[in-house]
Amino acid sequence: MYDLDLDGLTERLLAWGEPAYRARQVYAQLWRRSATYDEMSDVSPKLHERLEAELPLEVELLDERTADRGATRKVLLRLGGRHVIETVLMGYRDRVTACVSSQSGCAMDCSFCATGQMGLMNNLSAGEIAAQVVWARRAAARLPASTPQRITNVVFMGMGEPFANERPVLGALARLTDPRGMRLGSRHITISTVGVVPGIRRLPDTNDQVRLAVSLHAADDELRDELVPANRLWPLGTLIDAIAGWRERTHHRPSIEWAMIDGVNDTEDQARKLAPIAFGLHAHVNLIPLNPTPGSTARPSMPDRIRAFAHVLERAGVNVTVRDTRGRGIEAACGQLRWEHDRAPAAV
Ligand code: SAH
Repeated sequence: MYDLDLDGLTERLLAWGEPAYRARQVYAQLWRRSATYDEMSDVSPKLHERLEAELPLEVELLDERTADRGATRKVLLRLGGRHVIETVLMGYRDRVTACVSSQSGCAMDCSFCATGQMGLMNNLSAGEIAAQVVWARRAAARLPASTPQRITNVVFMGMGEPFANERPVLGALARLTDPRGMRLGSRHITISTVGVVPGIRRLPDTNDQVRLAVSLHAADDELRDELVPANRLWPLGTLIDAIAGWRERTHHRPSIEWAMIDGVNDTEDQARKLAPIAFGLHAHVNLIPLNPTPGSTARPSMPDRIRAFAHVLERAGVNVTVRDTRGRGIEAACGQLRWEHDRAPAAV
């Protein structure tokens, strides 16, 4: 169902003998109110039955973990009856972010990432990606009073590499920003990529408002080849060029993501190499203490190392923040909940 746009839905319902305005009603309820069929009071029992049978919503909750007094909620969802993926909701004082998956698993093979360690299972469709935000909007109503009760931001930072599933990701973007549907602002949506250069270059062709985050994690090719194997395909020089091109076309500040790994990429040498790259790109650097995962020996950097790293960047005039880690203790690292689910399904 979530794969259909309003025209597609209208066509279907007309073929079933329903008036065109019925499609508009259903579409608005689905995308504006995040309603399920049960909650659509203006749908006749007959149409309800047919929608359930032929256009099922197929978003099934398998597991849910909460942390930070309910402000962080991580769920395992089964989409389309087959793909098991993670979606996360993070409530802050002034905003609520939904973190969505673009693939089930991932082929990028980053050594510190739990999703990378499981490999790629499947691509998600545009509707399966967008459906996660519909779920998140419903869950946002249950957030504590300390945060807004609605989704203000969406980040493509869940399982998968968005630009390895480019068309469905752009399709999801269209669905989320549809003025006749959910109406989220592209400026509040961020695509995070491992550095797939062709995807970065093409992005402004379809949407020049959506924000870009690049998972750099290393500032020279030797280290980056090791941490982020996609670097062998698109080395740093090419990647930096592509980010600069995106910035010139969109006039937006790119983000650089940097998972701080103890003794690996948290050295002064890496900070000194990163500084001119980030400065030249007018990028905002996000330092994120690594979330340790079962399949990797990598450990998070100590707070004083993170502070020292941030200072080197700040002294060079770079905009930097240290991200607070959310959801420690609820298998919050990318892919970890799914990983646990696969290993011990009986415990869920
Ligand atoms: N494939 C995309 C988006 C998904 S991963 C990308 O690489 O950007 C989202 C972010 O989480 C990336 O920056 C990724 O490198 C980071 N990440 C993955 N595993 C992590 C871990 N164990 N600890 C901290 N960050 C991690």
